[in-house]
Amino acid sequence: MSIEVKNIHKRFGNFIALDNVSLNFPQGELTALLGPSGCGKTTLLRIIAGLEQADSGHVFLDGEDASGQHVRERQVGFVFQHYALFKHMSVFENIAFGLRVKRRDVRPSESEIKKKVMSLLELVQLDWLADRYPPQLSGGQRQRIALARALAVEPRVLLLDEPFGALDAKVRKELRRWLRRLHDELHVTSIFVTHDQEEALEVADQIVVMNKGRVEQIGSPDEVYNHPASSFVYGFLGNVNLFHGRVHEGVLDSGGIAFDAPDHAQAQDANGIGFVRPHDIEVERYTADAEGIVARLRRSHAIGPLAQLELVRADNAQLIEAVISTERYQHLGLTEGETLIVRPKRLRVFVNESASQSA
Ligand code: ATP
Repeated sequence: MSIEVKNIHKRFGNFIALDNVSLNFPQGELTALLGPSGCGKTTLLRIIAGLEQADSGHVFLDGEDASGQHVRERQVGFVFQHYALFKHMSVFENIAFGLRVKRRDVRPSESEIKKKVMSLLELVQLDWLADRYPPQLSGGQRQRIALARALAVEPRVLLLDEPFGALDAKVRKELRRWLRRLHDELHVTSIFVTHDQEEALEVADQIVVMNKGRVEQIGSPDEVYNHPASSFVYGFLGNVNLFHGRVHEGVLDSGGIAFDAPDHAQAQDANGIGFVRPHDIEVERYTADAEGIVARLRRSHAIGPLAQLELVRADNAQLIEAVISTERYQHLGLTEGETLIVRPKRLRVFVNESASQSA
């Protein structure tokens, strides 16, 4: 099922939770709603589900206005951060629940229920846990059971609100890969809420970046990561070094260092910020005639193929983070405290929020 929301507004008292949100969620895709705490992600999910009413605007399910439809009619499956499994019911009964409470004329037979529950348990790879009770499961297992339960009623859309938020980092990582594989098998239109940019980038077909009740950008993981529409998106989607300064006729001057900002050729002494990802920073040994920023290496360590460097700019004490290959790190033979030359390879300049890229 495809989902479209149009001009959604939602207030809680004087607080604007959603400010004119319009979005498309294509059939069969997995979309991440990504943004900081309080930006309206959950509220939007609840409005799509029919659990919350928008003050104005519309939700279309498969092109049909769902405004008057009850939650049940919308046929959505939910999974929340705090797995709401029934503690007094076995895993089997938890998954069977949605089937047992169906109207009599559409309720499956006992043998159909058994078959369905067992096939869902196989799908989430936990068929050996059918007779256990929720308190006897790990957090990750509970979330997989919660997902199986949501899928039992064959929802037309699956809504996941921080489904792995309460789990530790390692389990979280495993489960998000597992969710992606599951989605590739089932192709149910799915929306999941997260504030973890790595999770969104790794799992989603499309990412909606939200901030303060508004949509900052919608696009593929590659689009939002490599072509962010605003400085907010750039900063939210990964570590970033900021170089503040003035932009004049295509050049950003940050503390006496000039950076190219070719798309801002018309700028006349405007405020600008250059954004550089840590892996887009080149580092070399200091020589008096080398061009670049002079910085002192404060701390460094190599883990696996990458080395992280923490540098302090000599002229203004700004902290600069760089990530280089361990090979290069070892080749340079860096020692903490030494002076280096730092050069951004790729810098993105935002002037009053319009961006340009220089390579
Ligand atoms: P988080 O990642 O912390 O869950 P979120 O992006 O999902 O955040 P929402 O839960 O949608 O954010 O909330 C958006 C804003 O609306 C928040 O400031 C929240 O305090 C407020 N809000 C949400 N529900 C209500 C409510 N029922 N009454 C009053 N304010 C609410």
